[in-house]
Amino acid sequence: MFTDSMCPVCEREPISPPNKVCLSCYERLKRGEVHERAYYYETWESTRETPEEREKTIEAHIKLDAEEWNRHTGNGLSAVYVIIEILDAVDEECITAAWHRRRIAFVYDLIDRLDKRLFLPAGKDRVRAFMDTALGYWNKTVSDAERKTAVAEMQNLLEKKSLSDWDAKALLLWMAHTEDMFDWMWYQWFDCVHSCVPNEIDDSTWIALFRKHFSEVIQAWVEKSQKEKKI
Ligand SMILES: [Zn+2]
Repeated sequence: MFTDSMCPVCEREPISPPNKVCLSCYERLKRGEVHERAYYYETWESTRETPEEREKTIEAHIKLDAEEWNRHTGNGLSAVYVIIEILDAVDEECITAAWHRRRIAFVYDLIDRLDKRLFLPAGKDRVRAFMDTALGYWNKTVSDAERKTAVAEMQNLLEKKSLSDWDAKALLLWMAHTEDMFDWMWYQWFDCVHSCVPNEIDDSTWIALFRKHFSEVIQAWVEKSQKEKKI
């Protein structure tokens, strides 16, 4: 049974404070994010650099990895961060329309739980109608022309000319945006989604939503990392 003291990522081991995950999940993520020298030797085949330059670049990356890791673990590793990293790390070829449909269904649920005052002057019903249009577009029941009209109208209503301000309104509009509008954000989707509404809902709600939509992806990560450890 899932309890508050159980790691919300693997659901197998108790949380190890100050982290919000167990030690095994902590180590699993660390293996994926903090690379050793051998990793860079294997993955970097640079012909442009001299051996000395290559050494220097690898050194810089190892330092950067450690700094990043310390930044994320300084106050304890967050379970929400771990799950976001898992979901954004799926192979590029897995990021298909089907995968995006799942991401959109997740955002639909997420926005459902947000305070609707965040979307004013758009009222609750307008927000829901827009979300239904976006969902319909990704489920192929709404045409691209309808999608475009809905985006233009909502963007106008929200007075959201630029999407560079990441907030709840941007997140709502993202639901009906296509891949070509995202660039690198397409591959860091969950990180970007979380950055739009970082404090609007609590961690337990984020985790409940992640588990509802992506439980098998999270479990596959746990299993895969388990096997890698044995090798
Ligand atoms: Zn765990």
